[in-house]
Amino acid sequence: MYRKELAQGVKFGDHMKIIPCTQATFLMSKREDHALTFGETIHLYIHLLVCEFCRRFLKQTNIITKALKRATSNDSLSSEEKQRMTDALKLA
Ligand SMILES: [Zn+2]
Repeated sequence: MYRKELAQGVKFGDHMKIIPCTQATFLMSKREDHALTFGETIHLYIHLLVCEFCRRFLKQTNIITKALKRATSNDSLSSEEKQRMTDALKLA
C-alpha cells in the first residue's frame, strides 16, 4: 500500500476502513495516558499491520518513552544528587 493512500485513510466498502496515519499517531499518543476503546484498538492494530511508517514511529516513541521514564524515575538519581541539583538551581 502506498504512503499517500495510508496518509489519507482507505475505505473498504461501508464498514471496513484503514484510518489515516494522523489518526493512528493520535491514537498511539492517546494510548499512553488513556485506555483506547475496542474500536480504536482494532483500527490502530489494522493500521499498524499495513503501515510500516507508523510501525517505525511506534518503535521510536517507545524508545523515547522508556528513556523519559528512566530519566524521571526515582531510581535515576540518589537523594544526595537531587539535593545538589536543587541547591544548584536555587543559586542560579
Ligand atoms: Zn500510518
